[in-house]
Amino acid sequence: MTEQQNTQLVLAERPTGPVGNEHFRTVTEPVREPGRGEIVVRTEWLAFDPAQRGWLNDIRSYVPPVAIGEVMRARGAGEVVASGDPSYAAGDLVTAQTGWQTHPTLSTTDPATEIERVPRDVTDPKLMLSVAGITGLTAYFGMIGVAQPHEGDTVLVTAAAGATGSVAGQIARLRGAARVVGTAGKPEKRAWVREIAGFDECISHYDDNVKRRLREVGPDGYNAVFDNVGGELLDAAIFNIALHGRIALCGSISTGYRPEKPAIGLHYYQRLTTMRARMEGFLVSDHADRYPQARADLLRWVANGDLHVAEDIVEGFEQAPATLQRLFDGKNLGKQLLRVS
Ligand code: NAP
Repeated sequence: MTEQQNTQLVLAERPTGPVGNEHFRTVTEPVREPGRGEIVVRTEWLAFDPAQRGWLNDIRSYVPPVAIGEVMRARGAGEVVASGDPSYAAGDLVTAQTGWQTHPTLSTTDPATEIERVPRDVTDPKLMLSVAGITGLTAYFGMIGVAQPHEGDTVLVTAAAGATGSVAGQIARLRGAARVVGTAGKPEKRAWVREIAGFDECISHYDDNVKRRLREVGPDGYNAVFDNVGGELLDAAIFNIALHGRIALCGSISTGYRPEKPAIGLHYYQRLTTMRARMEGFLVSDHADRYPQARADLLRWVANGDLHVAEDIVEGFEQAPATLQRLFDGKNLGKQLLRVS
């Protein structure tokens, strides 16, 4: 145990463009023995979320930015290797705010560490970072609670080959939507959305006229929209909204979450008036008290074969900065994860 080293990636410089190794510094130190109310976790999996890019900007959002010299904030999954808390034993599987570090010593009493046990019936711990983690839960609460697809609806999901979008579209189908349309980038991602996730259509957001393509595949307009992208794609969705349509604003990855690249203004927002439609933002964390029920539903759908999950796995801790950038380059299919060792 005392021989073990904890390797950390700490923020060295704030990126203004794409994220790379040059923005982080590697710090290696002996693993700190756990005190009372602490555990040491061997991080096996790290989860990647676009919001992490926003935390690198010196702007306060719903959480403070990561400070220069601070370990990069991230959620991980792994095994308890030493415990100073009688309710945890070596070998227990947990998810927690591990940050980008291989063997963090975490407080079990500080709510900020957000330690959760991997339930015994979940044999694959990384599911707790993907479909039963933040992105699956975001799809669940945003689609069911905000976009609210009804029987027979036509539904649109942007970034449909991603962790959140792929789950959101499949939930719409499970809730009775008649037609589910997605947008994505590369042809192989669009093929997965249609052939595995079971969307009726998946159009390219690189298309010269997305607004017209959306009209062609959804001629009666979209009753429910789950938007992960913002910008021109959101504008095209608003243009194609159906009467009394609902738009769930999940995220706006097209801005790159970069301070120097603010979101564009919307040209077609007047359609919200004429179609008596509404647009509503949401944060998954507002629904934390209902995570257990949502997880139970999501994992049951996976077990029944009603929900298909894609995970995109990069190998090697040192790849963490490049792995975060993959989300903004459209390289990931499904949940972006990294296997630490
Ligand atoms: P993801 O969808 O797995 O990955 C991001 C995808 O976005 C990329 O693979 C890329 O796919 C697409 N994309 C990137 N840049 C784009 C651009 N300029 N234009 C169009 N598409 C672009 O990521 P995720 O973790 O599931 O997150 C999806 C969204 O949910 C993000 O906006 C995130 O911020 C948001 N989110 C919100 C909450 C909440 O509580 N509201 C919680 C979690 C996540 P293609 O190019 O192939 O389409």
